[in-house]
Formats: sequence, structure tokens, C-alpha cells
Amino acid sequence: MKQQKNWAGNLMYQAKHWHESRNVEEIQQIVRGATHIRVVGSRHSFNDIADSDDTILSLGKLNHVLVFDKEKQTVTIEGGMRYGELSSYLEERGFALPNLASLPHISVAGACATATHGSGDQNQSLSSSVKAMKVVTANGDIVEFSQDKNRQEWQGAAVHLGALGVIIELTLAVIPSYKVSQYVYEHLPFTQLAEHLDEIFSSAYSVSLFTDWRQDAINQVWVKQLSDEPSSVRSELYGALPAKANSHPIQGIESVNCTEQMGVAGPWFDRLPHFRLDFMPSSGRELQSEYLIPRQFAIESLQVIQEMRAMISPLLHVNEIRSVAKDDFWLSPSYQQDVIGIHFTWKDNWHDVQQVLPQIETALEPFQARPHWGKVFTMPKERVQSFYEKLPEFRQLLVQYDPMGKFRNQFINQYIF
Ligand SMILES: Cc1cc2nc3c(=O)[nH]c(=O)nc-3n(C[C@H](O)[C@H](O)[C@H](O)COP(=O)(O)OP(=O)(O)OC[C@H]3O[C@@H](n4cnc5c(N)ncnc54)[C@H](O)[C@@H]3O)c2cc1C
Repeated sequence: MKQQKNWAGNLMYQAKHWHESRNVEEIQQIVRGATHIRVVGSRHSFNDIADSDDTILSLGKLNHVLVFDKEKQTVTIEGGMRYGELSSYLEERGFALPNLASLPHISVAGACATATHGSGDQNQSLSSSVKAMKVVTANGDIVEFSQDKNRQEWQGAAVHLGALGVIIELTLAVIPSYKVSQYVYEHLPFTQLAEHLDEIFSSAYSVSLFTDWRQDAINQVWVKQLSDEPSSVRSELYGALPAKANSHPIQGIESVNCTEQMGVAGPWFDRLPHFRLDFMPSSGRELQSEYLIPRQFAIESLQVIQEMRAMISPLLHVNEIRSVAKDDFWLSPSYQQDVIGIHFTWKDNWHDVQQVLPQIETALEPFQARPHWGKVFTMPKERVQSFYEKLPEFRQLLVQYDPMGKFRNQFINQYIF
């Protein structure tokens, strides 16, 4: 069998056996027969979190809605469904999710496994919309985890890094559909950001900042406003001026790949992600790293990155800075504290990027910068572990449902056990 790669192509999966499952009984059989097994989602992680030395299971064909409950405002989906598919289904029925990541291409189960997030001072990680999951655990049985059934266990299970079992169903809370208008402002001087960071992030439902650090400024501020927020373009935003046409966050890439801007109101799922489902998100040839930093250190940590810009900029497509509201999940980088995400879309040059990452991680160490679970980082495991006070409880949860470590891989052994 041809060796399989992740989306970015920077990782060749090591698994010897690949299965594409079409039904739950088959999944149970495969799990019972495997010694080590992992599930892949849409393969958008940049590290080996989804890899296995033995068996990989893909649920890509299990991508349907199972139940839509209008009264309870919940939707139950199969474990391989992507946000793009779910969003269209919900919109047709007048419903929505509160937030999305920068792209709709990723699977719901895979995104929630790593606490994937969008932006917004009031917007939590995407895992926060999930209220229950059905999981095929190591012995092949189906176990239901839910916020209502056992809240404490749920806090451990919701962000599971793929180590709990095969997520075959997820139930998500939905909200009435809403419209969003997107405006881009260009060239925000760094001094203005340092003085007005809180005002800028709280100025709309979801705000993202992009810069390649070629100048001492933020290239673009993407402001996503709800249609019931005052929604006319401002003449300026702390010195940044409105863009005259649609933009791509990375200089030199066609804006046709991006969701509509210039204040044209549109459905939530076609404005909250930066990239459109039918187009290549981001640059395609890239690596990504991201550090989630407690909000109180936002300005100092950005100042540190700004001081390193001569070193960072040549390797960078773009930096994105976002805000994420706290949640309650043991393994979430925003566990019980609001955070700022400093994200790096690197050029596809691992040789040089791996020299720079330890320097960034050391510079950000005073600010308790936690790496995104699905992106590349070089931080020692001891430091990663020190951020998660509930790690012992998480280990116990995994041991309870998977005593032999069937769902552990090198990544889980290194960073969790
Ligand atoms: C272009 C691009 C843009 C991105 N934008 C963002 C962003 O805006 N915000 C952000 O936070 N992250 C972002 N990411 C990172 C991405 O959201 C995460 O890496 C996410 O986990 C990828 O989900 P996936 O479906 O591709 O899962 P994979 O990468 O395939 O797997 C991720 C984890 O989920 C587990 N998993 C997947 N499905 C199942 C299942 N059914 N049962 C059990 N375990 C499962 C895997 O074992 C693995 O541990 C981006 C990545 C790319 C490539």
C-alpha cells in the first residue's frame, strides 16, 4: 500500500495497516483485533498525534447527520463528518454553531480532539459545543460520555487527543443561524496594538490579526461582526485603514480562496472561517506552530515575538493572533483561563524552522506558552506536562478505558505518559 501523508505532506504515517470503516460493527471488530490503533480525521495535524506503529482507522465515509433535534437544539453526527458538511446541513434548517476554525475542511472529531479554536473574546474552543460522544473503547464496547451523565469525566473526555477510543458519534449544541459581516483593516502599528489590544479584540464577535513582521506592524486586522452589531466600516481602527478589496492573509495568494469581506453580510459558516471549503486553505506548502498564552501576558508575549521579527520573518508566511475564551477541559490549552493564540504559518522548511522554534519557546517560557496539540513544537515534554494540572486524572481516565494502551502512540507516550 502507498505510504499515506498528512494534509501538509510533512508527515508520512508509519502505520502498517489502514482501514476505511463504513459501519460500527466493523470498527468494533477492527479495534478488538488490533494491538495498537489510532484514528485519523481529515489529517490536518502537522505532527504525529494521529499516527500509529500498527493500525490506522479512517472514518471519512461515516460523515452523516444521525439526529437533528430542533426542540433540544442538538445535532448528532457520525465520527467522520467535516465542519463544511455539518455547517451546510445546519444552515438549511436555520441553525448554526457559535464558532469555527480558520477552515471548514477539518473533521469535527479531529478538531475537537485537539481543542481546535477560532477567535473571539467570548468564543471557547470548538470542543465546547460538543455535549456527548459515543466511543468504541479498547475492548470493542461502545461507551457514552456526556456532559449530563458525568460532568467530571466529560471534562477529561472532551479533549482526548485520540487516546480514548474511536469517536463514532458526537452530539453538538446548536444555536439559531446568524449573519456575519467581515471587514479587513490594513497596517495596524505595533505600538497601537500594544496600547489597545483589549479594545481591538473586543471590538467584534471574532477578531484575527495577521502579520509577516516585515514591518513593525500588523498587516491586517480581520473583524467579523454579527449582523446585529453596528456594522458599517470604520474610517480607521487604531490607525489601521479599511482594505479597498478582498484580501488573503498571506501576501501574494489570490483572495478568491478566502471568505467574502468588504462588509458583505453572509451566513456564519461562510464568514467565520477565513478560507472557503472548495478552495485550498492557507498556502498548502507550509508548517504550522501555535502557542496559547494566558491573556494577561498577551502584550508582553507579542512584544517578545516582535523583537525576534528579523529572525522569524524570512521563514514565515504569516503570524495569526487570536483570542480564545476559557473552557473546562483538562487537556485544553485554554483550561480555566482566557488565552491569546500566537500562530505561525511557516514556509515549508523544517530544517530552518526547527532551529527557530526552541528559541521562540524559550522566549515565551515566562508566559506559560502551551503548544497547540496538533501543530509542530519542540518543547520538552516536562514543560508541556507542567501546564496541565489535571494530567494525572486524564491518565487515569485513559487507563480506565484502555488499560493495555491500545490507543496510545508515540505522541501520547511522550507527552501524556
Ligand atoms: C490549513 C490549516 C488550518 C488550521 N486552522 C486551525 C485553526 O484555525 N484553529 C486551530 O485551532 N487549529 C487549526 N488547524 C489545526 C487543526 O485544526 C488540528 O490539527 C485538528 O486537530 C485537525 O483535525 P483533523 O480532523 O484533521 O484530525 P487529524 O489531524 O487527522 O487528527 C487529530 C487528532 O484527532 C484524533 N481523531 C480524529 N478523528 C477521530 C475519531 N473519530 N475518533 C478518535 N480520535 C480521532 C486523531 O487520532 C488525532 O489525535 C489548522 C490546520 C491546517 C492544516
